[in-house]
Amino acid sequence: MAEIAKDYQQLPKNYLFREIKQRKLAHIARRPGVHVYDLGIGDVSLPLPSNVTNAMAQKALSLEYAETFTGYEGSEGGVELKNRIAEYYHALGADILPQEIFINDGAKGDCADVQTLFASGTTFGLQDPAYPVYANSIILSGKAGEVDNNGQHKNIVYLECTEENDFIPDVPKEKIDVIYLCFPNNPTGATASEKTLKKYVDYANDNKAILIFDAAYSWFIRETDKPKSIYEVEGANTCAIEIQSLSKAAGFTGVRLGWTVIPQELSAENVDPGEINQLWRKRQQIHFNGPSNVAQAGGEVILSPTGLESVVESTNYYLNNAKSIKATLAKAGIKSWGGVNAPYVWSETPTVDGKKLSSWEAFDHYLERANVIATPGVGFGPSGEGFTRFSAFGKSEDNDAAIKAIVDNLQTN
Ligand code: PLP
Repeated sequence: MAEIAKDYQQLPKNYLFREIKQRKLAHIARRPGVHVYDLGIGDVSLPLPSNVTNAMAQKALSLEYAETFTGYEGSEGGVELKNRIAEYYHALGADILPQEIFINDGAKGDCADVQTLFASGTTFGLQDPAYPVYANSIILSGKAGEVDNNGQHKNIVYLECTEENDFIPDVPKEKIDVIYLCFPNNPTGATASEKTLKKYVDYANDNKAILIFDAAYSWFIRETDKPKSIYEVEGANTCAIEIQSLSKAAGFTGVRLGWTVIPQELSAENVDPGEINQLWRKRQQIHFNGPSNVAQAGGEVILSPTGLESVVESTNYYLNNAKSIKATLAKAGIKSWGGVNAPYVWSETPTVDGKKLSSWEAFDHYLERANVIATPGVGFGPSGEGFTRFSAFGKSEDNDAAIKAIVDNLQTN
């Protein structure tokens, strides 16, 4: 009889978004016809720009004719798109070559899979709270080690993000082999300065550690001292892998396109520079037949000058939503962070009848009082307890209606 790997049984039992859905449905069942505003969503709501959809439509139509039909094009993505991505890095002042870029079908798969490069016994540093995919993929690959009573794993070092450190943990005191960093951060919206990232790069180079930098939300950065890519920081090419996505930049959550950069100079314990890049190439050849050619046609337009202008436009739209959310919370006397270079606003839970609510109590309070869904911070890790994540990805009219409902109905004292 087939036996299921034990690693699968170590996955956390409660799924955040399933629990949210169940509570939402129960709320609607108690109040038939009620409108629930969703500030919990991680998906985008704006449609794609027409120059992008036109390019994808043309590519799709070209597949109808023998002369222009294309099939498999390799596991790393097309040369034209890689060149555009290399130019994108060049414009940021970063030195990345097309052969260091591996185009994927969105960032999630590589966020989960890149840890397969590292030996069992590797220690992984994770921001707490963080995008749950990092921890869960380490658990699934059997590298997380024993779990304690608090649900924490032996081989994972949890780097606490708190109000005291502005939700950006200082470089670790101990030696950690691989550190995942996500800036701008999901869920806290915290965005690291060049100075902070330089400390991490120096730590990694000094300790022969590797940084896995998730830059999926870099498109929202507006403050000029905050790098959009880790490779803007001197010394990063020898110690950092970067994962990028067009999902939140350009509404590609359904189209699916992103990339991973593995620089030639990247080095690790038992390999020479250049080898990790080659190993990942082989891995991609084994696991992946390349991103969709139609999606890549759209991606080329996004990375053109006009495409990048539309990215600024759509991210500005969400940043405006974030600004309104922050202003509303301030009016309700609720402290918040993020939302300036990020589409997420991280807020303290309200105090009601003299008691500060837990993350899930706050979830119920927003839902009961204002018919608003906001994500419980604790769903992203234990340090998220006592916080709520508000997403700015809604349509602005829904965003405005939701925040009006909060101002009109929320009891906070
Ligand atoms: N990284 C972070 C921090 C995310 O929040 C997400 C999606 O929400 C992803 C990566 C994955 O994005 P995608 O697979 O759509 O490119």
